[in-house]
Amino acid sequence: RIAYVNGQYVPHGSAQIHVEDRGYQFADSVYEVCLVVDGKFWDIDGHLARLRRSLSELDIEMPMPESALRIVMENVRKRNHLKSALIYMQVSRGVAPRNHLFAKGLVPSVVMTAKRFDLDQSDEKAAKGISIISQPDIRWGRTDIKTTGLLANAMAKNAAHEVGAAEALLVRDGFVTECSSSNAWIITKDGVLVTHPKDHKILGGITRATAFECAQELQLSVIERPFTLNEVFAAREVFLTSASSIVMPVVTVNGRQIGDGAPGPITIRLREAYKAKARAL
Ligand code: PLP
Repeated sequence: RIAYVNGQYVPHGSAQIHVEDRGYQFADSVYEVCLVVDGKFWDIDGHLARLRRSLSELDIEMPMPESALRIVMENVRKRNHLKSALIYMQVSRGVAPRNHLFAKGLVPSVVMTAKRFDLDQSDEKAAKGISIISQPDIRWGRTDIKTTGLLANAMAKNAAHEVGAAEALLVRDGFVTECSSSNAWIITKDGVLVTHPKDHKILGGITRATAFECAQELQLSVIERPFTLNEVFAAREVFLTSASSIVMPVVTVNGRQIGDGAPGPITIRLREAYKAKARAL
């Protein structure tokens, strides 16, 4: 495997970043995970717009023009001999003697890696549906910025894993925000899709945005509003969205069955619609 590190393509096993990189010491860095489907970047404009926004919120310079980032992403994909891939891209503020203050004029560090991906790879999981558990959302107040400060997310996911669940549904002030690495949706008894508004409390998922479009194309009604755990238990269907799992049906939450305990028909339609859209690129 080949990784890109600050202008060079190097063997993955020996790819390195400086010990005083601020990404390492302060999680002073942002990232994106982008899908390539059959050689074509999927939702790339959305990912690059979100990267630009994350960097700008943290006052980190874009490390290179978007056009150059696209070329590097494409090179990383090709050098890893992948047609469909997940590209991981991380940009940190750069290397400086450890100090909370941001030094001026730092050169951002850029890392990219690629791994195999297939739109169908989560099909088996989706056919069964996943079990999730709720966890308190103890993350900081700017989860809209896609920083690598993911410890609270990682702790929540590990807590889920320990009890055999696949994801953690995060609850803040009585409302569900999202999951540890995906956005959360419910479908009410009236057939309305509900997901948390895109604000400072959630990461505005690119898959969330595209699933939103797919839902509208399927003439489903969608509203963005916070919802409670009780609404989750009472929902007809529950599903999650993320670049790597696309649209993933949830069948139990805290051990309680959702609907009839099988992946819901609307969720399945949405997953199919999403895949068809990605393949039609
Ligand atoms: N929410 C969180 C906390 C995430 O980490 C992710 C993705 O990693 C998402 C939502 C889904 O975002 P996307 O659809 O852009 O992958």
